[in-house]
Amino acid sequence: MWIRILGTAAGGGLPQWNCGCAECTAARRTGAGRSQDCLAVSGDGQAWYLVNASPDLRTQLLSAPELAPAPGTRDTPLRGVLLTSGELDHTLGLLTLREAALLTVHATAPVREALARAFPVGPLLAAYTEVGWHTVRPGEPLALAGGLRAEAFTLGGKRPRYAAGLAGSTDWVVGYRFTAQHGSACAVYAPGLAEWSPAMDRAVEQADLVLLDGTFAAPDEFGRRTAGMGHLAVADSLPRLARRPGPRYLYTHLNNTNPLGRRPPPWEVTGAGIAEDGLLIEL
Ligand SMILES: [Zn+2]
Repeated sequence: MWIRILGTAAGGGLPQWNCGCAECTAARRTGAGRSQDCLAVSGDGQAWYLVNASPDLRTQLLSAPELAPAPGTRDTPLRGVLLTSGELDHTLGLLTLREAALLTVHATAPVREALARAFPVGPLLAAYTEVGWHTVRPGEPLALAGGLRAEAFTLGGKRPRYAAGLAGSTDWVVGYRFTAQHGSACAVYAPGLAEWSPAMDRAVEQADLVLLDGTFAAPDEFGRRTAGMGHLAVADSLPRLARRPGPRYLYTHLNNTNPLGRRPPPWEVTGAGIAEDGLLIEL
């Protein structure tokens, strides 16, 4: 299995265009920024899937050589997109894919509804390309191209702000557990972890790699409580990781206020690492 980490920042990226906080100012000065959270995964190194479609998607696709079309063709190694949520920083990039000859999108039922009505990406894209929409059901494995298997697990019911008027209280946020048909590799992607749940426990069991929510370093980042924002702080998830040794843990989806987004991070994160844009991992 191959994982290409395309982006590691939360919504807004680092630096965020209108933010002059210490982290954004430093990133502006050094040029060491981060693009918004996005991942590419493949079971065979040939057929690739995006997990989320960030607003930075075009640049991210161009920076990953394995996602380039073969010379002289319009064929793309990209076989589809799996969404972990309907948040704008995970879905705006779908519009960037409108040149595709065919686009396949996997999302949970409430996210699909949000993208059909509240933020009508579905109807918009239909004017440009053929889109196949598939409903992701947590606990039901999906067989994908290249021998890749994906199983979603529920992470929370926090809906995007633009979808406040829609029904559907669960499955707004999911993570994915990926396995490959050949080989025993297992990777988990959970960029929106509201709290450490039994589902998360099951997902990380015997995983080789776990990419998890590193939005906030501390539960009181930027002077107010981050509780209720749908992101368990690194300080609160680290003790959980220590009790579940085995996988390689990497924090991703770092908010621009998070000091751990600096290189090197200002303090050692024992038992885990920080994901980097462009990192390619073979399992
Ligand atoms: Zn900032």
